[in-house]
Amino acid sequence: MAATSGSIFGAMLQEFDGAARILNLEPGIWKILTSPKRQITVSCPVQMDNGEIEVFVGYRVQYNITLGPAKGGIRYHPNVTLDEVTALAAWMTWKCAVAHIPFGGGKGGVICDPTKMSKREIEALTRRYIAEIVDAIGPEKDVPAPDVNTNDQIMAWVMDTYSMHVGHTTTSVVTGKPVELGGSLGRREATGRGVMIAARESAKHVGFNIKGATVAVQGFGNVGSISAELLAQEAGAKIVAVTDWKGGVYNKQGLDIPKLLQYTQQKKTVDGFPDAEPLTNADLFKLEVDVLIPAALENQITAENAPTIRAKVIIEGANGPTTPDANKLLHDRGVFIVPDILANSSGVTTSYFEWVQDRYGYFWTEKEVNERLEAKMCEAFSAVLQTSIKYKVDMRTAAYIVAIGRVATVTRMRGMYA
Ligand code: GLU
Repeated sequence: MAATSGSIFGAMLQEFDGAARILNLEPGIWKILTSPKRQITVSCPVQMDNGEIEVFVGYRVQYNITLGPAKGGIRYHPNVTLDEVTALAAWMTWKCAVAHIPFGGGKGGVICDPTKMSKREIEALTRRYIAEIVDAIGPEKDVPAPDVNTNDQIMAWVMDTYSMHVGHTTTSVVTGKPVELGGSLGRREATGRGVMIAARESAKHVGFNIKGATVAVQGFGNVGSISAELLAQEAGAKIVAVTDWKGGVYNKQGLDIPKLLQYTQQKKTVDGFPDAEPLTNADLFKLEVDVLIPAALENQITAENAPTIRAKVIIEGANGPTTPDANKLLHDRGVFIVPDILANSSGVTTSYFEWVQDRYGYFWTEKEVNERLEAKMCEAFSAVLQTSIKYKVDMRTAAYIVAIGRVATVTRMRGMYA
């Protein structure tokens, strides 16, 4: 797939190429690893509450399944494109390899605006989308999960729709489910917990104390809000700024995160939160903080705003928040960036734990989940850090080197079919 300018997949390819060159990757494997295995496009007719029929376009991309079943979330957003979903599926491939879990990479997306849809309409769309891709997914084939604007309730509908089609309850077809129907304890918090661990390990490496460190967070969805909560509660950091789709808030003394969570549950935004000053997204990036956590969408840190960033460390809670140009500018200035495929990998790692528990039919305590997660995240962080020291490269290139190395080794071992 050719890279076009402004293409998110193009940005992924740029990152890939830098690492593949250092690895001296042979051209054949290079071609395989830069080609999406399967891209599915479906039309999903849904009867809306007003009686009219709308047709929504959905995608599921299985980028690479060399290490195991495709794995990756489903996002609902008006700006979803096949290019974006393909890049996200590629990132899942590298993320699962960095996390050292036996999955390939996949991603799904439906072009829709769930904020303007009723619960019944979202359920109908989910069921139709899953029915359209039902032959392509399954516990051994492709295992979806939550992503932007999707949650545990939607995963319950995914599980039910698949189960109705195959004729028996199959919990391991999807992860991020409610705990009552085969979900894992700790899964909802997992990505935020991993972001906290990445911030803590980065602070140790860069040389500051995470306790009392100042943190700014862009995005207050599942990842942003739980990262903020755990960094404040468990790591003792001070969350001074949060922005979201509508506005932002700043408090030099530190925001009261439990109160902010309560506020956003009602208002659906941090905007207008009392005991804080208003803050724009552009100003969030200019703050002199220890840790900056972009936890919203792609392409937020660009060559334009990168020169204004004064954070010591950036932990990418979102997928693809930093463009390749911005990454270079920041790295050259000595900003320590923990890339998405490492920083937010604890979500999919705990999805792996959920899949294992579902297949085993035996469930772990939250303590067991969190202990295993801590071990996996520290193992991945250390592998990437050691690689970055060994090859004298930034953490993103190092993460790609680790990931490409693992997928390429297995590709060679498996050989070519036919
Ligand atoms: N959507 C999450 C991600 O981007 C989780 C994927 C999963 O658990 O499969 O990593």
